Amino acid sequence: MKTNTISKLNDTIIKDYPRMKQNDKFIFECHPGVSCFNKCCNDVNIFLTPYDIIRLKNRLGISSSELLEKYTLLPIDENLRHPIVMLRMRDDNMNCPFVSEHGCSVYEDRPWSCRMYPVGVASPNEVAQAESDDFYFLLKEEVCNGFANGKEWTVQSWMDDQGVEEYNIYGEMFKDISLHEKLLKLKAIEPVKLEMFYMVCYDIDKFRDFLYESSFFKRFDVEEKRIQKMKTDDLELLKFGFDWLRFSLFGEKTIEVRKEYLQPA
Ligand code: SF4
Ligand code: SF4
Repeated sequence: MKTNTISKLNDTIIKDYPRMKQNDKFIFECHPGVSCFNKCCNDVNIFLTPYDIIRLKNRLGISSSELLEKYTLLPIDENLRHPIVMLRMRDDNMNCPFVSEHGCSVYEDRPWSCRMYPVGVASPNEVAQAESDDFYFLLKEEVCNGFANGKEWTVQSWMDDQGVEEYNIYGEMFKDISLHEKLLKLKAIEPVKLEMFYMVCYDIDKFRDFLYESSFFKRFDVEEKRIQKMKTDDLELLKFGFDWLRFSLFGEKTIEVRKEYLQPA
């Protein structure tokens, strides 16, 4: 999917979709007995977050590089302000690579947007570059019979039921960077910065190699306890990565340069 198609969809959602708040209600039911079972896992646009990547690669027992190469797509154009990573549907039948006849084979670690469906979140800021709060909306896919009847939910009770809390915590940290005012002012990000952004947020194992196989910790003053933890803890590494992006992209003082490496004023 081209990025201009993605942004048209965002524009439509922001302009035309009814805006929902956490306490707004809807009726929905999804279980293996529904006539449309698995149909939503075909030819679908699933955007992956940095946290999704960590959950999926650990679920599958592979590296982030392998996951990205085998299962994702990177829609790219010259106007990108940050990388976008999508789940790649199978070439032969356009099914999600993780769908099986019994349903989602990575269910406990399925991505954020699979958990959230039929609820979506829109960020008008990213499109309009104006102050406007995020809002929820209902996405009704044509194939989906889940709205016909079922349980009454609020947006919040649905999110609680789907276990998105930790996904949202890391999602907010990511948004603070991807919707940073300095990025939103740019027409596009420089390719070398885009590559760094991609490695830190998505190819987390490569980022780990970059840190530990270079002179990084000689140049930057990072607490020894944190250095040791990040060797094996992907989430700690991701949090450090966000700090690094704030430092390297926006000049924030989230990481300290060691005194001996400071340039004289
Ligand atoms: S990850 Fe699971 S829930 Fe999401 S599209 Fe694939 S099979 Fe469906
Ligand atoms: S199409 Fe809707 S009701 Fe059917 S399996 Fe998917 S989410 Fe559930």
